[in-house]
Amino acid sequence: MVQNNSDSEEFPVLKEKTTLYIKDTFLDGRPSAILIDDTGSIAALGEDAKQRKNEAEYIIDGSSTLAIPGLVNMHTHAAMTLLRGYADDMHLQEWLTEKIWPMEAHLLPEDIYWGTKLACLEMIQTGTIAFNDMYFYSDMAVQAVDEAGLKAVLSHAIITFGDEDKMEKEIKGTESLVSVVQSKNNPRIRASVAPHAPYTVPPEHLEWCAEYSREHDLMLHIHLSETEHEVLEVLEKYQKSPTQLLDETGCLHENTVLAHCCWLNKDECRLIGERGSHVAHNPVSNMKLATNRAMPYHWLQEAGVNVGLATDGCSSNNSLDMLEEMKAATLLQKFYWNQDTLLPADEALHMATAAGAKALRFGTGKIETGAPADIVLLSLNHPSMIPMHNPLSNIVYAANGGMVKTVLCNGRILMKDKIIPGEDNVLEMATKCVADLLSRAAENGIKS
Ligand SMILES: [Zn+2]
Repeated sequence: MVQNNSDSEEFPVLKEKTTLYIKDTFLDGRPSAILIDDTGSIAALGEDAKQRKNEAEYIIDGSSTLAIPGLVNMHTHAAMTLLRGYADDMHLQEWLTEKIWPMEAHLLPEDIYWGTKLACLEMIQTGTIAFNDMYFYSDMAVQAVDEAGLKAVLSHAIITFGDEDKMEKEIKGTESLVSVVQSKNNPRIRASVAPHAPYTVPPEHLEWCAEYSREHDLMLHIHLSETEHEVLEVLEKYQKSPTQLLDETGCLHENTVLAHCCWLNKDECRLIGERGSHVAHNPVSNMKLATNRAMPYHWLQEAGVNVGLATDGCSSNNSLDMLEEMKAATLLQKFYWNQDTLLPADEALHMATAAGAKALRFGTGKIETGAPADIVLLSLNHPSMIPMHNPLSNIVYAANGGMVKTVLCNGRILMKDKIIPGEDNVLEMATKCVADLLSRAAENGIKS
């Protein structure tokens, strides 16, 4: 357990609905305070909060901290934490087909549970309060997220390559996840429909996904135009761009999240803007797998598209640290498009908070009265945070997840003074799962 603060208390055991008061923190560059009501919403800020501090049943000392909205990871494959560092520095297609897919074939439901628990732990430690997931055995992820206290949109990845029997199984997988999520009746957890990509799911199967997502008011979550290769493949096969194909199959709507979008042209950006779909930028994964083009942020911005930020899975990143991802996003945009003013710090923070919250429909992603209390306290007792000429600059360009001290989601404390209850057990069980996974794979001749 990481605990570098000598005056840390034990983790507080609070009843379900507790009013909280965060005293002496900094918000938007000024000394402030935050009052949280018993529904988990922000009741008052600054002077108003100070005047009403007696309403609070529990006080969090926010001195030497900077309060920022909880971060939202808009595209990941959470349980891939188990494959962190398993295969690096390879060509994308070989990495997928020779290393990742053969190992994934040996994952069991229990692995998904512990892999997701490990991901949730890392996300909380680095200030993420909500994420958008695409993987399999996702009912196990539902359980893990429910216990961790985070918010998530979870999905069963649909990959068919046109095989009808496979599609039947994927439909069952999706329907089963939807019913598991419904039975939980937890407002922090929702299901989505997740066709993997236009090059792995043909139009007739995309049509089912579009219809099902509209019928059940579910998000549609898909990879789009990550590599040039897949764009050319779709163009050759269907004589249209992947974005046009998504539009014609009904997949581009206001509840759609498109991950990557590296190889979009201007017309595609406009079309996405007209349909009101959302885009998830994955700068670290794109650089690591050398997609050879950065998502055209400026064109998407011109088209009015809501663009959020994401880490992608842990085997192509290799962390879930959204503070690091913000810096990577702004550096990649500036470097690739050769514009030193592109994606400034305020827009990077917006991308990692409000844009993601809007796309996932989890509140406003802002610290404001009436919003869910999704709050991260960053420690200012750190060389990288001193001086503080500009808090935004420090958050985006100098901070990393190691500076996250306390995390609240919907007004519930998930980490306090770097303490997360049950952390040691998650680390132990995830390590054990990986050892078992490697020995199962070795029995089938797969070398680690
Ligand atoms: Zn992905």
